Amino acid sequence: MAGMDSQVIVVGGGASGMMAAGRAAERGASVLLLEKMPRLGSKLRITGKGRCNLTNDADLDAFIGHFGPNGRFLYGAFSRFFVADLREFFDRMGVPTVAERGGRIFPASGEAHDAADALARYCQKGGVRVRTRTAVSRLLAEGERMAGVEAAGETFRAPAVILATGGASYPRTGSTGDGYRLAASVGHTIVPVRAALIPLVTAEAWVPQMMGVSLRNVRATLYLDGSAVASEFGEMLFTHFGLSGPIVLTLSKRAGEALEQGRVEIGVDLKPALSDEQLDARLRRDLDQHGKRAFRSVVKGLVPAKMVDVLVALSEVPADKAAHQISAAERKRLFGLLRDLRMTVRAQRPLREAIVTAGGVALDEVNPRTLESRLVWGLYICGELLDVDADTGGYNLQAAFSTGWVAGDAAAASVRTDG
Ligand SMILES: Cc1cc2nc3c(=O)[nH]c(=O)nc-3n(C[C@H](O)[C@H](O)[C@H](O)COP(=O)(O)OP(=O)(O)OC[C@H]3O[C@@H](n4cnc5c(N)ncnc54)[C@H](O)[C@@H]3O)c2cc1C
Repeated sequence: MAGMDSQVIVVGGGASGMMAAGRAAERGASVLLLEKMPRLGSKLRITGKGRCNLTNDADLDAFIGHFGPNGRFLYGAFSRFFVADLREFFDRMGVPTVAERGGRIFPASGEAHDAADALARYCQKGGVRVRTRTAVSRLLAEGERMAGVEAAGETFRAPAVILATGGASYPRTGSTGDGYRLAASVGHTIVPVRAALIPLVTAEAWVPQMMGVSLRNVRATLYLDGSAVASEFGEMLFTHFGLSGPIVLTLSKRAGEALEQGRVEIGVDLKPALSDEQLDARLRRDLDQHGKRAFRSVVKGLVPAKMVDVLVALSEVPADKAAHQISAAERKRLFGLLRDLRMTVRAQRPLREAIVTAGGVALDEVNPRTLESRLVWGLYICGELLDVDADTGGYNLQAAFSTGWVAGDAAAASVRTDG
């Protein structure tokens, strides 16, 4: 199909681009989808630990809230295509969905591949021509109008081009940030790109000793120069370099900003359900009831096994000291560690390891109701390439699907009215 003209060209066959291409074709446009990787939806296939957390059943305002201030931009797209529409879409494509803890919605099959394959089928059904292994290197504009793209030395012409190249993380899935350069080449402002959901590297040598420990129902608080600036309750994980897991990822963007401003720490409250009085009472009781036991074995009753030696060492209480000999000061030190296990944050992991890229095409240059560029006629921009990013929980994919659907819909409408 090289060189053949189309009405709509979609650049990038990820979550957003496949939805855009499928929708534009469904509305009657002749569509060409160009994807640089050998297959469609490489990133989608590894989302949600291979299970693909498609979206979330939070209501609209709460949903938007997970994107921070820029989330307001999404009201336009979400009012046209939102959670119920997405679930209905996957149902129709033979991939029923289920809601789990925290309102997270997954394919009932538990297979991200099913979601990606359904989107590929959607494109196929509408007659979208797909070219994989085709990296777009240039946008072609004629005056202030889109005219097509260049890829691998070939020119593909179309009056409407949808840019859906994703962010700049997990480059092995194809998301290498090409779209930022392409959008900038036709005049778009790119808000500096940085990691949004990214694990954090800590300084203390004892952190990696707890590698693999996953904590539920804890509270992590982010400190900048000693003052609390953000806090999250939920699950987290110790790794060989530091901290990861949902609440750490959620705090990570703020941590990145804080790292440019001063000294950054994370404190973990291991017993957030207990007040100070209750926690102290619990420790007194444990120490009293098991007076003859070694301190270490009392600590064992309080935290996961792999944390015991670390906490004992940090408490500076001899591991084999009998519980009834523990002084008030020693008990207070243990109390302090359980209430606020403090770690120094040294850095974010590199951008390529981010779940989502923050920054991107400036939102005031894109029409939120159509996703059309306000600078170039016929150029549409959707998905993670835009300057929107959210917490974990399915929000990012819904944004990619919704903006893709709306861009495809609007691009198809525009080529039809243009004749
Ligand atoms: C490990 C991991 C797990 C995740 N899990 C979840 C989850 O469970 N739920 C959730 O909501 N979000 C999750 N996300 C985030 C989510 O995957 C992304 O936000 C989403 O995929 C963005 O969709 P997109 O279509 O904009 O970009 P992408 O899905 O990245 O697709 C962009 C496509 O464009 C192609 N491309 C790039 N440049 C060019 C070019 N020059 N020419 C042609 N093609 C090009 C790429 O190869 C790629 O296929 C996860 C991310 C990661 C990395």
